[in-house]
Amino acid sequence: MLRVAIDGPGGTGKSTIAKAVAERFGIEYIDTGAMYRALGLKSKRLAVDPADESEVRTMLDDTVIDFSGGRTMLDGEDVSGLIRTGEISMAASDISKLAIVRAKVDEVSRHLAATKDVVMEGRDIGTTVIPDAEVKIFMTASPEIRAKRRYDQLIEAGKEADYDQIYKETMERDYQDSHREVSPLRQAEDAVLLDTSDLTLEGSIDAVARIITEKTQK
Ligand code: C5P
Repeated sequence: MLRVAIDGPGGTGKSTIAKAVAERFGIEYIDTGAMYRALGLKSKRLAVDPADESEVRTMLDDTVIDFSGGRTMLDGEDVSGLIRTGEISMAASDISKLAIVRAKVDEVSRHLAATKDVVMEGRDIGTTVIPDAEVKIFMTASPEIRAKRRYDQLIEAGKEADYDQIYKETMERDYQDSHREVSPLRQAEDAVLLDTSDLTLEGSIDAVARIITEKTQK
């Protein structure tokens, strides 16, 4: 059984790196943030107040999230592209504070990791979702570099981007994710810390692959 848990704040390159590492090892990649994003999108569409637990519960009872062929499906709709905006990032962070929301995402995530080898990426994988994961990595990078990476991603995708705005939003979301009561973003005691500030994408992928090989050969 190989379960690789990768946690850390936004903009560290986590998703791209986790996906590439999963490919290299020929195992499944699971992006748990996509589930919070899908729920954030639905809450926006239905004007559900993320602080109102009963409204959120009603929404959850009527929601099916599924990853088919690497796409994020919300109630049968492919929302993979729609969930990658600054607005939905914050909506995801807002709704992810609630224990009932986390319980739902945890259930789907654990189910996905129950029968196959995975690289699972998020904020609380090593601490809460798979605390007995064979490999745990906590990825960081300096705030300026994380904001710059988000900025570059948007520009590359042909979208508009304002660095100062992105920097502010990145810091706000980190603060919120690290200070919530339920499963806040934090490094698991047995996680390996990997700072990607001075690493290229290839270098980061190699570093993660090396950590996995070292941990699994022991
Ligand atoms: O990783 P990503 O930026 O897509 O995650 C979006 C938001 O979902 C995060 O800011 C965080 O609030 C929430 N999240 C979480 N736990 C996870 C993954 C994501 O709370 N395991």
